[in-house]
Amino acid sequence: MNNLIKKAALTHELNHEEILEILSSNDLNSELFLAADKIRQEYVGDKIHLRGLIEFSNICRNNCLYCGLRRDNRNITRYRLSSDEIFNLAEYARNKLGLKTVVLQSGEDMYFTKEIMCSIIARLKTLDIALTLSIGEKSTEEYAAYRQAGADRFLLRIETTDKDLYHRLDPDMSWDNRRRCLKDIGLSGLEIGSGVMVGLPEQTLSSLADDILFFKAINADMIGIGPFIPHPDTPLKNCQGGDLELSLKVMALTRLLLPDINIPATTAMETLAPNGQLMALQSGANVIMPNITLAEYRKNYELYPGKSATNCVKDDNLSELNNKIASIGRKISSDYGFHHKVL
Ligand code: SAH
Ligand code: SF4
Repeated sequence: MNNLIKKAALTHELNHEEILEILSSNDLNSELFLAADKIRQEYVGDKIHLRGLIEFSNICRNNCLYCGLRRDNRNITRYRLSSDEIFNLAEYARNKLGLKTVVLQSGEDMYFTKEIMCSIIARLKTLDIALTLSIGEKSTEEYAAYRQAGADRFLLRIETTDKDLYHRLDPDMSWDNRRRCLKDIGLSGLEIGSGVMVGLPEQTLSSLADDILFFKAINADMIGIGPFIPHPDTPLKNCQGGDLELSLKVMALTRLLLPDINIPATTAMETLAPNGQLMALQSGANVIMPNITLAEYRKNYELYPGKSATNCVKDDNLSELNNKIASIGRKISSDYGFHHKVL
């Protein structure tokens, strides 16, 4: 085995230069993916955790250059689900599909005040589920209140650790504030989920190496990595976008360095290639987030093109997903899928 990959698999430590060396060469890819798959099996086992994704509002105050929900995009119909609609979907996820985690995701929609959000959280928590939020940048007090109301986890991707790039892509937003949010999420007792996009314009391999080290530095409980996919109604429509292989490499390295965390096979990977998700599950990933948002809303939640048609639940018994998972010798987990720290 290559010495660097061996070192990563044994010690779960690599420095910036070493990560960069692996990222820079494609000769090591199959060895890297195999090593990440082995470490995944050793630390988090063969079970795959499913998280039911509810995209409950596509209204957003921000204008991120890469995202189809950005406030200047006039080509989508904006929607916001009611508290009852959200509850009914979560109940369907739990009682019909048997899912043990529900993820509530939205744009930064200011209608959902701390009070409204907390009452939704408390109601959903009567369902015997773990609850993840992915609703953007909030105050210290808000994260603490979500936790107190019963939320278990929070997903907030740092998007990139290259501050200049971040500020070019996220006008009016501050990287330092996003970093502050991740600190507050951890302090509040919520599990910390973060991640990045791969293939952003002018993103370098060196900055991707920094990203991986950042995941370690923040003690992440889960990390989602997906290729950037240009959206035709955004200023980045003519950019090239990320490729699957490099995204898988960043993901596999993340598994080697943070061996016991939860890592989803992201929908963006599946959007780029029909077997992207299976490749991810065999290169370090152990989580899938099936989309349970109703089709009429989902079509207006295109962060990137193709998203709404990918990874959605087509039946009430998850048989398609089950078959896919069984085809690579894996099984669906029946527990809540918390991060169990081994290291
Ligand atoms: N508003 C919240 C959650 C919704 S966006 C937030 O921004 O945190 C969820 C994620 O979608 C973002 O973190 C980003 O990484 C991803 N995303 C947005 N646009 C994308 C694109 N064009 N290609 C790939 N991923 C994208
Ligand atoms: Fe809004 Fe999130 Fe899209 Fe940025 S990435 S525009 S915050 S939904």
